[in-house]
Amino acid sequence: MKIKKIVGREIFDSRGIPTLEVSLFLDEGQQVVASVPSGLSKGSYEAFEMRDGGRRLFGFGLTKAIDILDREIAPVLIGKEPDVVAMDLEMIAHDGTVDKSNLGANTILAASIAVLKAQALVNDVQAYELIARLCGIESVTMPYPFFNVINGGVHADNKLHVQEFMVVPVNLPTFRAAFEAGITLFHELKEVLHAHGKSTAVGDEGGFAPECESETEAFDCLMEAIERTKESCAAHFVLAIDVAASQFYDAKSKRYEWYGAPITADDLIALYEQWISQYPLYAIEDGLGEHDVAGWQRMMKKIGDNVQLVGDDLFATNSERIWTGIEKKLATAAIIKPNQIGTVTEALQAIALCKEHGMNVIVSHRSGETNDSFIADLALGSNTGALKAGGCSRGERLAKYNHLLRIEDALVLSALNPT
Ligand code: PEP
Ligand code: MG
Repeated sequence: MKIKKIVGREIFDSRGIPTLEVSLFLDEGQQVVASVPSGLSKGSYEAFEMRDGGRRLFGFGLTKAIDILDREIAPVLIGKEPDVVAMDLEMIAHDGTVDKSNLGANTILAASIAVLKAQALVNDVQAYELIARLCGIESVTMPYPFFNVINGGVHADNKLHVQEFMVVPVNLPTFRAAFEAGITLFHELKEVLHAHGKSTAVGDEGGFAPECESETEAFDCLMEAIERTKESCAAHFVLAIDVAASQFYDAKSKRYEWYGAPITADDLIALYEQWISQYPLYAIEDGLGEHDVAGWQRMMKKIGDNVQLVGDDLFATNSERIWTGIEKKLATAAIIKPNQIGTVTEALQAIALCKEHGMNVIVSHRSGETNDSFIADLALGSNTGALKAGGCSRGERLAKYNHLLRIEDALVLSALNPT
């Protein structure tokens, strides 16, 4: 089956900001649809996102990207069998820039995900199965969900500097059990916040966005909620945070703005040491700014053995940057966001590089999401072991978790009734 037509359109993401959706038609009548997310706390090393600029839709419009899809990308793909690796390489070559600024990483990625879905359809497998094949993986394992249950930083209108407080249910046999544990915790946390007179309105990523005096107060609410889950659920929870420290780092003064005071990387690391001693903190993402390489090296020496140190803005899903991180020993894990790099193939390469060098991988959503559940397929198919897809509310976050529930149910059914 060959690609017959590709149509791009503006749709709107979970924040009401335009994003790109692609419909890809095969010559025997089938159709697949793919859309791309967009971040707010973006790293400066991310590939280029094509937007119209100007006044319409505050400059976020995508008419240029749709035009590029029609005039530049469609001719590369039409008339050929869908083949995501070959087509990604062709689109990368056609773009010809390091940061995909000719065609736009969002334009290329929308086509790339659509091609992957079409290839899966042609091969009569699911997207995650095709990804597993591409990675040479024979049997997949469900990822651990990282539920972002308290939103702060630029994702919420509160004072919290830490952008994400996440809970990870461990010691459970299935994804469904882990998901139920996350849901139980989420509703217990709502009760705890109510009891403390705090708002239970949610932030961009479907976690609560309460007004807290400090990070400690948010941690304490979380611990209280975890305690309350013990009556009804067997999960053990560990915590993870995304500090998104690039957001409050000043590269000139090499200082971090922390509640009105300029503090050093070492001050922040000391704070993390304190949190590690007080709470079951398992992972710290972007604990320091993306440009503060010397700080990351000191952080690794000080706390790298006690907690997973995760690079998001630091690596931007870019294999070259991850390679530098491996050589300089900057982190023990990497966030993978396909739209930071712009093709499925490069995201898979980044995952493979991490795995070869013993780095953990967490596949992640963006703050501006659509209902496309591709990242759930990516986390499962490439056996990364971890998926960060938001809190336990908002449809675009649950789309990813529900997709995995369906897959797990199907896998259990087929194990029970082998054909
Ligand atoms: C993040 O920083 O991990 C994140 C998901 O935020 P955004 O999508 O806004 O970059
Ligand atoms: Mg992050």
